[in-house]
Amino acid sequence: MLSKNILKNNQLLFLCLLIVIIYSNGFASDNIEIEIIYPKDTQTISAVDSTFILGNIPDVNGYHLSSFNINERPVNVHEDGGFIGFIPITQGIFIFYVEAKYQIDKDYFKKNPNIEKEITLIKTIQTTVPSPIKSLPLDSLRIKGEYKISAENRYLTTGDRVLLSLHGTPKCKAFASIPGVVDSIPMSESNPQFQPYWGESVFGAGAVPDSMKIQGIYFGFYDIKATDSMSDAKIIYHLKNENKEFLAWQLISNNVIDRADIYQLLNMPETTLTFESFGTIFINDSFFPVTVEFTDSIQTIRYQPRKGYFSIFQPKGVKALAIASEGDWYKLQLAPNQYAWANKNSVRLLPKGILPSKSYLSVIRTFNSQNNLKIQFPLSGKHPFKIIEINRKEIKIQLYGVISDTDWIRYDPGDELLDYAVWNQPEPEVYELTLYLKDNIWGYDSYYEGNNFIFQLNKAPKDIEDLDGKRIVIDPGHSSDKGSVGPTGLTEADANLAISLKVREELTKKGAIVIMTRDDKRHVNLYDRPSIAKANSADLFISIHNNALPDGVNPFVNNGTSVYYYHPHSIELGRNVHAELMKELKLDNYGFYHGNLAVNRPTQYPAILVECAFMILPEQEALLKTEKFQKKIAKGIRKGIEEFLEDFEDD
Ligand SMILES: [Zn+2]
Repeated sequence: MLSKNILKNNQLLFLCLLIVIIYSNGFASDNIEIEIIYPKDTQTISAVDSTFILGNIPDVNGYHLSSFNINERPVNVHEDGGFIGFIPITQGIFIFYVEAKYQIDKDYFKKNPNIEKEITLIKTIQTTVPSPIKSLPLDSLRIKGEYKISAENRYLTTGDRVLLSLHGTPKCKAFASIPGVVDSIPMSESNPQFQPYWGESVFGAGAVPDSMKIQGIYFGFYDIKATDSMSDAKIIYHLKNENKEFLAWQLISNNVIDRADIYQLLNMPETTLTFESFGTIFINDSFFPVTVEFTDSIQTIRYQPRKGYFSIFQPKGVKALAIASEGDWYKLQLAPNQYAWANKNSVRLLPKGILPSKSYLSVIRTFNSQNNLKIQFPLSGKHPFKIIEINRKEIKIQLYGVISDTDWIRYDPGDELLDYAVWNQPEPEVYELTLYLKDNIWGYDSYYEGNNFIFQLNKAPKDIEDLDGKRIVIDPGHSSDKGSVGPTGLTEADANLAISLKVREELTKKGAIVIMTRDDKRHVNLYDRPSIAKANSADLFISIHNNALPDGVNPFVNNGTSVYYYHPHSIELGRNVHAELMKELKLDNYGFYHGNLAVNRPTQYPAILVECAFMILPEQEALLKTEKFQKKIAKGIRKGIEEFLEDFEDD
C-alpha cells in the first residue's frame, strides 16, 4: 500500500492514477514503495518546532531518482536508499508528505519507448504534535487545574511541607484551604514558567523557546504542625478576580477586546472560583510509623519519589522505618536526620510494634584472600547503607541506625590493598568508615552474612598489564526489544550483536576469556545481563549499543560516538575506550557521560556502555552494516581496554 492516510481529494486521485501507472508498467512488487521507519503513522510526536523522519526509498528498475522531498523540502538520499530529514512541524494533526520522483534511464527508454518517462512515489504519515500548555486569556476567570498535579494519596507528618500550585487566569488572587486544618493559605503568581522539554535540554542545544513560557501559575505552601490531624482531605484552591480594573487596563492596552466587553468585565460581580486537588491527603494519620523490609536485592532508595538515587542495591532483609507516603512511595527515616524514599513494591510491611534494630558497632575486622579483602561489621540487624567513592583510592561506607562503640579495627596482616580505615559518627545513628587504599578501586560488593555487614573490595585481576586471562563480559544491547532502527530497517539489536561478535574475536585473540550475555538473537532481559556478569565473576563489563535521538533533536548536529559510566571506578575504562573509538571511527565526538543505566550500576567491576554510532543517520547505518566498520569498533574497544589495563597501576 502506498498510503493509509487521510489525503486531500486531488491527492487521492493522483495516488490512484499513480498506482495504475506503476502497475500498468509492470513495476508492481511488494517493495516498490517508500518505507518510513520513524515516526509511525498515527504517532504522537513530542517536539516543538522541528523533528526528524527517517526511512528508505526503493530502487526502480530502469529509472534513477531525480528528486526527493519531504513536505516540499529536498532531503538527501544515501546510495543504499536510506534518508533522514529534519522537518519543521506545526501543532495539531501534522502530515509528512514524502515524495520521490524517478526519471527513466536513457538506455532503458531506447529499449522501451512507450514507457512512462517519470514515475512518482508518495507516502504520507499522519502524526499528532501536542500543543504546549498556554496562558489563559485575561477576559474571564478560569482555573485550568493544579500546575503540578498532586500525588493520588499523600500521608504527611509534622514538619512536612505541602506544596500548592494552580494554573488559572493571570493577575488574580489565589489562596488554598485544607478543610478542618487551615482556612487561607496564601498563594502568589510566579514569573512565567518554562515548560519541561527534556529532549533538547539534555541532548541538544539547551534552548527553550520563549513561546513556551506560561503565565498564571500560582504557588503556595503549608507546613504541617504537630497539632494538625486530618484523614482523607482534598486541598481546595480558590481564585478571585479582585482586581478587575487592572485586568481591564491590561486588555485595553493590549487591544484584546472592545469597549462593550470591558464594560461587561468591569460590571462582572466579584467572583471566586474553587477547585479541588486531584490527590487526597492524610495528616498525622495513625497508620505511620511502620517498619518495612526490602524484598529484593536490586532495589534502590531515592532522595524523593522518582528522583535521584540515595543508595542502590539494598539487600533483601534490610529494614527501615516508614514514616509517610506519597502515591507509590514510602518515606523512610534512616536516622534522625536522614530520609529516603522506597517504592512500595520493593518492600513489605512488618506488623505494627516492630522497629528496625539499632546496632552498636564495637569491632571491625578485615579478612584477606586471593581475590578480595572483606571488611566485616558485626551488627544486630540488617541496616540500610550507602557507599560513596570519594576518589580512586578512597571509599566511604555509611551505615544508618548504627552507633559507634568502636574500640578496635583489626587489619589482616596478609593484606596489601587497604592502607588504613577511619571511623566517624558524623550524625546520630549514621556510622561512617572511610577506607584509604594503596591501589585504585577495581570494584566492590556490599552484602549481609547473617547480621554481619560485609564490604568486599575486589582486587584487580592478576597480571593486570594485558588482556590475557581477563574475564570480560560483552553485552550486545537489546534483543526482542529491537532498540533503535535505521533508515533501511537495520535494527540496533542486530547491529549490536554483529559488533559484539567481532569484539569477542578481537579480545579472544589476545587471550581474554569473553562471556557474552547473548551470542544470537535470543531474548535476554535487561536485569539478567548484570546477573550473567556476576555469575561468571566478570573482571570487566562492556555493553554495546548504537544511538538514536528523542523527537525534536537535530540529528545532523547531534551525533557521533559516546560512552557512559555510572560509578567513578569505571571512568578510566570509559575514557580510554572512548578515546580509542574516536581514533578508529573518526565520527563526531558525542561525549562522555555519567549515565544512570541499569547495566552500569553493578559495583563489582568496571562497567561501561558504548554508543558506537547513530543508527538513524543513513551514512552511519550503512557503515554499521559493513564488517570493516564492525572490526574498527572491535579494535577501538580492545585498544581502549588494553590502555586501561596498562595504566591501571601507574596512577
Ligand atoms: Zn540501545
